[in-house]
Amino acid sequence: MASASAISSPTIVHSERRGRQIGTVKLFEIVAAPADARIGRRRWAAPPVLAAGPPRKRESVAATVTDAPAVVEKVIGEVNYEELAKEMEHASPLAIMDRALQMFGNDIAIAFSGAEDVALIEYARLTGRPFRVFSLDTGRLNPETYQFFDAVEKHYGIRIEYMFPDAIEVQALVRSKGLFSFYEDGHQECCRVRKVRPLRRALKGFRAWITGQRKDQSPGTRANIPVVQVDLSFEGLDGGAGSLIKWNPVANVEGKDIWNFLRTMDVPVNPLHSQGYVSIGCEPCTRPVLPGQHEREGRWWWEDAKAKECGLHKANITHDVGNGKGTVAVNGVSHSADIFNTRAIVGLTRTGIENLLKLENRKEPWLVVLYAPWCQFCQAMESSYVELAEKLHGTGVKVGKFRADGDQKPFAKEELQLGSFPTILFFPKHTSRPIKYPSERRDVDSLLSFINALR
Ligand code: SF4
Repeated sequence: MASASAISSPTIVHSERRGRQIGTVKLFEIVAAPADARIGRRRWAAPPVLAAGPPRKRESVAATVTDAPAVVEKVIGEVNYEELAKEMEHASPLAIMDRALQMFGNDIAIAFSGAEDVALIEYARLTGRPFRVFSLDTGRLNPETYQFFDAVEKHYGIRIEYMFPDAIEVQALVRSKGLFSFYEDGHQECCRVRKVRPLRRALKGFRAWITGQRKDQSPGTRANIPVVQVDLSFEGLDGGAGSLIKWNPVANVEGKDIWNFLRTMDVPVNPLHSQGYVSIGCEPCTRPVLPGQHEREGRWWWEDAKAKECGLHKANITHDVGNGKGTVAVNGVSHSADIFNTRAIVGLTRTGIENLLKLENRKEPWLVVLYAPWCQFCQAMESSYVELAEKLHGTGVKVGKFRADGDQKPFAKEELQLGSFPTILFFPKHTSRPIKYPSERRDVDSLLSFINALR
């Protein structure tokens, strides 16, 4: 029986770096270099054959003490995930799960919602490989779901790695808008605080994740999901767009077949299913459906039927950004909720940023992100930019944002070096021309090094 506490590295230890094409990711193997390669290790040419040695722990990568064995990264190939998805399109969920666990070992985890995606855990068990499971405890789940989590842990002998929302953010939301604001102004804000941000934190610890998404769950948003894809909505361990892979082993399985599988394997199931619940989420936002009703009709039933994604799988939503007004049409629904909302970030108007451009001698340096709230890369860097702004608050470096889509885009392209969203600019104290942040790594430490090098 697989145990999360007894996870070891995979047979093939590897890490990933982004390839130039978004569907392609380079694989590296971390290996000990031969003794004669420890000085001038770049000259050591690793054997071209993929070594299948005993499991090695990733921590060895950080072993930089002189006496420790030297380690090198050996390119062992590139994975084109679009091609892999085509190749595995007709593979069984078990084969897909096995491939995912084999490729990513301890750097991958199953996202478990507390519903019929327990099938994923059963498939992982059947592979015989070690596996990890994480779940988002939003604080608003049904008591039955918590009992189910406990039953699953006991059945599989695992510990689910729970992620919780940030207490300060929940407090701010509930104190300002009440406990049920989602019924009035939509579920996006609450889901962002209770689900998306905790998920973002969780995924930063992995290189890949496994979801229970199925094509038949939502005709509006899930009809085209592949069995594996580069996840462009979130960042993985290495940071940056393309650093995370998403596996959807049951993408092509129908709901009734999942249920046949669960019954056959005698797997514990959430007791809410026997009360008419199909898709299960938070208690206030989930209700039973009648026979013949689509399962997504039991989620956020007061909102548009085709745009029901809580943000965990927002890359499924087709964005039409051609209206030029800084809004996004999501299957006909217009969304433009702003991001980077904290008092530590100054929202700059066109006049404000024009003034910044004119000043030769500023009182303090500024870091400004040019963004569009609908841009998934901007959303992906939101938490790190907010954290950075809060760190820099009171240190003499101002942090700002300028919404540069729509009518502002031509100006931003011409005057502010906007190429794509997000573009980050540093306005030093004594120079008029801003310096563009050159990297795709948008974590707090990388941005801080950039600022410290220039301030
Ligand atoms: Fe909030 Fe409902 Fe989203 Fe749960 S499903 S996070 S309660 S809006």
